[in-house]
Amino acid sequence: PSELLFYCRAGFEPDLAAEVTEKAAAAGGAGEALFAPGDGFVRFRLDGGEPANALHRALPLGSLVFARQSLVALPPLRLSREDRLSPIVDQVVASGWNFESFWQETPDTNDGKALAGLAKALDRPLASLLKKRRALRRKAGGRRLHLLWSAGDRVQLGMSFPGNRSEMPGGIRRLRFPHAAPSRSTLKLEEAWHEFVPRDEWDERLGEGMQAADLGAAPGGWTWQLVQRGMHVYAIDNGSMDKGLMATGLVEHLREDGFVWAPPCRLDWLVCDIVDRPARVEAMVERWLIRRWCREAIFNLKLPMKRRWPEVSACLEHLAEALASAGIAAEVGCRHLYHDREEVTVHVRLRG
Ligand code: SAM
Repeated sequence: PSELLFYCRAGFEPDLAAEVTEKAAAAGGAGEALFAPGDGFVRFRLDGGEPANALHRALPLGSLVFARQSLVALPPLRLSREDRLSPIVDQVVASGWNFESFWQETPDTNDGKALAGLAKALDRPLASLLKKRRALRRKAGGRRLHLLWSAGDRVQLGMSFPGNRSEMPGGIRRLRFPHAAPSRSTLKLEEAWHEFVPRDEWDERLGEGMQAADLGAAPGGWTWQLVQRGMHVYAIDNGSMDKGLMATGLVEHLREDGFVWAPPCRLDWLVCDIVDRPARVEAMVERWLIRRWCREAIFNLKLPMKRRWPEVSACLEHLAEALASAGIAAEVGCRHLYHDREEVTVHVRLRG
């Protein structure tokens, strides 16, 4: 295989393409990103037909901002409606790879959703053919085969490897909206925790009695998540906070400017969902981190502009440089989450 295949939110293909092209070049993998705007996926074809596995490992999914899923892919197939399965099975067998499981997926678009029925109908016959040809078997290193259907006669096969993939179909983390929460934004913070904090560390890092600041908190969706974890929250916003949330006694609401406010003592968490220029938000969080006003931070960068990747990239570089020159070691992650729209979520954890 000499292609990579990435899934993304529809409309973010140019951003993902720009990101992957830049990062691949830096990793020594020159190639070309192929996409159609609105399709919900991007192909990356390596120059000279070089194998894509090394590049796939060099660009771990967690280090990419705009990708929901990352696969090593085979060339796309165009199928006839009479026999869709044979060319698929033949391509798998010819690749020489075998798999423990296979997932049929469609892009996260309206056209994609319409293909779900077709994929479902092919599931059983495909499983039995793949098993017969020994392409689907028990011990296959956890490898998974993915079939991305982009039309009834168009499919692209890809493979994923444990440790460098999303374990969720379509790379989408679906979360149930908690009805007691004051706003739908609440899901962004919950998803960010799932993304950036391993589940077995939640009690230690998102524990009861911790202290947090929520900048741009109203009406309180993010504060609600912090309170659910038993944290005390400084909620900074000129707007009104949800009454039920205030009644918990865990929230102190201050009508102040989040870009100026300083905490009365060191806190565990800073979260920020203020709508402002990304560079301005980044500079504010940077100040918090350099003064060690918090140990971990999650903040969103709003991206209403056309070219989103250069904007995100500049902010992340600025943050990394500022932390490095202040002698502060930190882990930084940035992902375009499923519940994020025109924005991305950044996580920083100070070390030591
Ligand atoms: N995360 C919130 C939730 O889950 O309910 C929603 C936050 S909303 C997207 C952005 C908020 O930022 C608005 O309530 C707005 O009043 C607030 N805001 C804008 N500029 C601010 C500033 N300079 N300081 C504090 N809050 C600000």
